[in-house]
Amino acid sequence: MAIETVSTSWNRSTNPCLEGMEVLREGDKSGYGMVVNYTIRGGREVSAISLPHRFPTRTGPTWAYLVDCQGWTLVDAGPQGAMNALEEGLKVLGRKLTDLKRVIITHGHQDHDGNVYDLVKASGVELWAHELYFHFLPYESARTGLDRESPLHRALFEVTRREVEGNRSQPSSSDNAPWLEHYRSYLAGHRNILEEKLPIHAIRDGEELGDLRFIYAPGHSVDEICVSMNGAVFTGDHVLPQITPHPTIKRTYPEAILGTIPAEHQDTGEHYGLACYLKSLGKTLSLDHYTTVFPAHRLFNHGLFNIRNLQRAQEIVRHHVRRLERVVEVIGEGADTPAKVTEELFPPRKLVGGGFFAAVSEMVSHLELLADMGDIQVSQDGKIIRNGTDNFHSRIEAMTAREQRLA
Ligand SMILES: [Zn+2]
Repeated sequence: MAIETVSTSWNRSTNPCLEGMEVLREGDKSGYGMVVNYTIRGGREVSAISLPHRFPTRTGPTWAYLVDCQGWTLVDAGPQGAMNALEEGLKVLGRKLTDLKRVIITHGHQDHDGNVYDLVKASGVELWAHELYFHFLPYESARTGLDRESPLHRALFEVTRREVEGNRSQPSSSDNAPWLEHYRSYLAGHRNILEEKLPIHAIRDGEELGDLRFIYAPGHSVDEICVSMNGAVFTGDHVLPQITPHPTIKRTYPEAILGTIPAEHQDTGEHYGLACYLKSLGKTLSLDHYTTVFPAHRLFNHGLFNIRNLQRAQEIVRHHVRRLERVVEVIGEGADTPAKVTEELFPPRKLVGGGFFAAVSEMVSHLELLADMGDIQVSQDGKIIRNGTDNFHSRIEAMTAREQRLA
């Protein structure tokens, strides 16, 4: 459904670095089809191109951003199959694929890098991503390195097993075939990037390129980076308006990956899990509070722009603190397994189909944090008891506090 006009007003007191914005091409109420131009501090331009997904998603389109920084630089390539939409979007901006110098991938999830192989092949751009992104490229399926020794992870295995069995009994499982084919070609594209020795650049935390500065922010994804620029920050999925990004749970690196990863990245505890995500939010909050957030999703939704500053990162921290408070509370009331805690915390409508796995996985990330901070104990058979403490409050406060931010 096309919309007539779009309000392009924002609150200048909360986003003082944003100087102007103009919708160059309108789209639908979720932002599909839109191209928007922003002017930030110092007259720097940021163009946002909405890139569509082939499969339905509640996150809405992926927003790729174009900036001129030592050459035309695209932040995120969008989902696989989004090449035409990208070319059309660039055309609205008076650019073409071969004008691009580089693409920066915020993290290795399909909706951000699905299109990257086609893009690099078609345009010869350099592919920039966090150094860990490249270590994982040939091993995509190994990213799900759950820990069979962990009773919390065994609970997740159990949920997966039940869901697989449930799906088998449904004739509709062949509906997955197009998705699987899509996924296989995504993985093949990844392998091709390395095999064809396409031009890549491995980003390190704190690295700079002109006025762009890269901030390594793992937690939602092991290889997530944010890119700050002159009062603005491209946050990928690290900070999103309206939705809280799914935190990872702890992982173990399969042997094949471990051998190739630099020593400073070998401690998986520093790269996965809710505590890691919260620490990364604390790190992002070291930027000025009034920095304008350019997220990879929900830049525009329900016919309205979401123009937020880093107060949104603070809100996400508070969301998780409240959730942890509830988790501790329901455990105190007798919910003693990850599945029971999940059923207490989520409404039943969110627990149907794949929703249950996603919800239990999110609960496991919270339970792991509470166990690490000594607030709960998990026995080998997966039973959870409360310790009567709430250390998580002060520990999270310390990770995200102003004093820490100024250090
Ligand atoms: Zn993601």
